[in-house]
Amino acid sequence: MQNQCIFCKIIDGQIPSATIYEDEDFKVIMDISPAAVGHAIMLPKKHFSNLFEMDDNTASRALIVARKVATAMKEELGCDGLNMLQNNGEAAGQTVFHYHIHLIPRMKEDTINLSWQQKSYGDGEAAKIAEAIAKRIL
Ligand code: 5GP
Ligand code: ZN
Repeated sequence: MQNQCIFCKIIDGQIPSATIYEDEDFKVIMDISPAAVGHAIMLPKKHFSNLFEMDDNTASRALIVARKVATAMKEELGCDGLNMLQNNGEAAGQTVFHYHIHLIPRMKEDTINLSWQQKSYGDGEAAKIAEAIAKRIL
């Protein structure tokens, strides 16, 4: 637990939250400022600032929990879709530096905007970048 971390305080019960799911490794709560009704955030109980710091064990369990909660959300809310998204670092829009996954229920006609302007690669550029990144994978 990190003393100044708001999500660690929520996990510890010092700050109340509307909790959807909890097990030994994760707590899933309602986001306090939701993009849509039912917007949830999934918090590992261990403090990791972001994906880069996360351990393999927590990472491998995260998607299983996310799928279970997302399925329950879809059934209960009757949403047409759901975005699972996760910000790492200020540049990527992260505002709370305790790793978390957003689960955002989506309706066909909602006005939530997660779009970006699409760019394009020059000849051979994508392959070159792919090769360079691949060399660093441990
Ligand atoms: P980020 O921008 O870091 O990806 O997302 C942080 C999220 O945490 C935001 O959607 C914000 O509304 C939510 N949040 C921040 N403080 C609290 C809090 O005290 N309680 C809950 N339930 N959500 C919070
Ligand atoms: Zn924390």
